[in-house]
Amino acid sequence: MNEPQINDHHFVNFLQTGQLKGSQCTACNEVFVPARGLCPHCQQADLQWIPMAGTGRLLAFTCITIGPPWMIAQGFNRDTPYCSAVIELDEGPRVVARLDGVDAQHPETISVGMRVETKFRPPTDDEEAPTQLIFVPS
Ligand SMILES: [Zn+2]
Repeated sequence: MNEPQINDHHFVNFLQTGQLKGSQCTACNEVFVPARGLCPHCQQADLQWIPMAGTGRLLAFTCITIGPPWMIAQGFNRDTPYCSAVIELDEGPRVVARLDGVDAQHPETISVGMRVETKFRPPTDDEEAPTQLIFVPS
């Protein structure tokens, strides 16, 4: 089978088609998301793409009221904050992504440990950004 090379470009390409994939080291079985082409644990370069279930739990989060320009362009501001989170996927890796479907104005209502699942946010017509990986409560 001719698999695409393991790098950020192909990781983002998979997101465009609604697939969350990581890479797994064939020597030590460690899994990485975003995918890495070189294993930092055993320095092996023999890794393979693996599909991720896209489910996990909320490990940490912060609600951001003053975001970068591309988030302001999406309508986020002091009155409409967004949530940035660390998600621990069920396969083990931790990934930083936006958490939607929560009340970022009331962070006390968001629970560390809650179950989340992947959602893919395609760019709107006036955005040049690729599809974003986000999570929502499941
Ligand atoms: Zn390894």
